[in-house]
Amino acid sequence: MSQNLLKQLKEKLVQEEKETAKHLKKMENEQNSDNDLPETADIGSFSWQADISSSLYIIKQNLSKRIEVIQKALVKIKVGTYGVCERCQRQIKRARLEVFPSASTCGVCI
Ligand SMILES: [Zn+2]
Repeated sequence: MSQNLLKQLKEKLVQEEKETAKHLKKMENEQNSDNDLPETADIGSFSWQADISSSLYIIKQNLSKRIEVIQKALVKIKVGTYGVCERCQRQIKRARLEVFPSASTCGVCI
């Protein structure tokens, strides 16, 4: 992989990490404040509030996981193993990394 491409992908990852972290923080702030609940929610449902907090929990978990995956990819760039499939050890295609820079497996091993 060219240094230029690696640099581009690294920038993408750093940017993505920042945005994901911002998103996560925003969600935490919203959850902690006693603001009105979103208007789009179904007020008729009894389990509505529980649904909201459990789906928020899942979204937050997904965001944290996302950050972990991005950080893992950044570590790989540092140690020089970035772009290699974790399962088959083959090079991950450039097109796949461009769309999904935090990919840890190739298109075949997904
Ligand atoms: Zn593979």
